[in-house]
Amino acid sequence: MANKTTVVLPCSGIGKPYGEIGRQSTYTLMEDLCPGKVTTTCLAKLMIGDPDAVELVKNNPVITLDGCAQDCARKNVESAGKKPDRAVRVINTFKHHRDLKPTGILDLGEPGRKLVEILASDLALEIDCPAKKEGSADA
Ligand code: SF4
Repeated sequence: MANKTTVVLPCSGIGKPYGEIGRQSTYTLMEDLCPGKVTTTCLAKLMIGDPDAVELVKNNPVITLDGCAQDCARKNVESAGKKPDRAVRVINTFKHHRDLKPTGILDLGEPGRKLVEILASDLALEIDCPAKKEGSADA
């Protein structure tokens, strides 16, 4: 994935802490860790077959971040005709860091924010971004 823009696509996950962690990890990648190397799009645009969103995922590496086993992000990308290069279930990051249980949804609390950092840092390593933060572990 080193030389292309990577599309990181979190699920909608409203009201679910792991959905929120996926979304915040995406923003961390775009704004802090991999500016210019990561982009995203609205999942709903893929669902309605928006041509620009479909072309974006078809023509670039894609990482989906799902907040539960429904895998909405992965399934929507597959429905658009693309197999994600990496399909992450956010809860797997928590399984490696069980001391970091999110304490809320919109405000994830310090443990949840740490999980955001860890997940984003792991993905930054995979995307091969020049700037990396500490705290990497398996996603
Ligand atoms: S994967 Fe789960 S948390 Fe995410 S949008 Fe679908 S049902 Fe909601």
